[in-house]
Amino acid sequence: MIVIEFTSRQNKIIDIVQEREPITSQEIAEILKVTRATLRPDLAILTMSGALDARPKVGYFYTGKPHMNMLAQQAKNIKVKEIMSLPTVVTEDVSVYNAIVTMFLEDTGAIYVVSNGSLAGVVSRKDFLKNAIGGIDVNKVPVGMVMTRMPNITTIFLEENIIEAAIKIVNHEVDSLPVVEKVTIDGKEKLKVIGKISKSNITKLFVELCKE
Ligand code: ADP
Repeated sequence: MIVIEFTSRQNKIIDIVQEREPITSQEIAEILKVTRATLRPDLAILTMSGALDARPKVGYFYTGKPHMNMLAQQAKNIKVKEIMSLPTVVTEDVSVYNAIVTMFLEDTGAIYVVSNGSLAGVVSRKDFLKNAIGGIDVNKVPVGMVMTRMPNITTIFLEENIIEAAIKIVNHEVDSLPVVEKVTIDGKEKLKVIGKISKSNITKLFVELCKE
């Protein structure tokens, strides 16, 4: 797979070829007021990526294929549910000490806190560090006291695509998002945690896509 963001000159070449096909490299060079040698690498990239077709002695044709970043195209078709991991979940009354132990045992950076079956909050490494240097008694204080709570939690649904997940992670400056589904509990709409999507999931996927 070739992953290319075209430069502005490459995009200009595509426009020229689209308008005037078939067109030779000499003619393109004259329009752009550059030498043929300058254009050679651009034309090589454009033909390799499938945006242009070169026919000997005739010139360049526009293939009509979208000259889009293929990595982005593939990523758009991958849903959160395909790459999410199992979440680490505790209830609000668990002590900070036990939550820290859970974080180590489960080798995770974020723990999702639930109350009566629905998402109540998130605790991360920084929350524990901040409270530890603040001098709290980690054995006595429940995790519910130190977590970031609803409705300030950024979540994602199963059917959303992974670009939407990545954008939320970047924009909200968090390491992970709870994957949730809507449930009705006691007549109220709540969010049930069913997974986790983190920077690691997205990085692993990125590596896989680049290998193809
Ligand atoms: P770390 O503490 O390891 O740097 P984060 O960057 O994810 O991890 O957490 C930073 C802060 O954001 C913490 O206070 C945490 O409670 C909060 N947080 C983590 N994930 C979310 C989320 N999905 N929505 C809202 N807040 C979050």
